[in-house]
Amino acid sequence: MYCCDELIKAMDLEMIVKKEPHQIRDGRLRNELNTEYFLKSGQDGGPYNYLGFNYCPFCGKALSRGLWAAEKKK
Ligand SMILES: [Zn+2]
Repeated sequence: MYCCDELIKAMDLEMIVKKEPHQIRDGRLRNELNTEYFLKSGQDGGPYNYLGFNYCPFCGKALSRGLWAAEKKK
């Protein structure tokens, strides 16, 4: 389901989360990529900062649907 073990580990640690942007209620989105993958940072209990990303930071695979949509338009 996920591209690599490193990403799964990061998700286990909840440093990376996969959710819809409108589901983020315990913090703020810090950028506006069309993605469902976010780096999460901040103190326990929040509020958190969420930074969207398109590519896996570990193996470089394209992850987000925004990227797939962009690819299809080419
Ligand atoms: Zn990966």
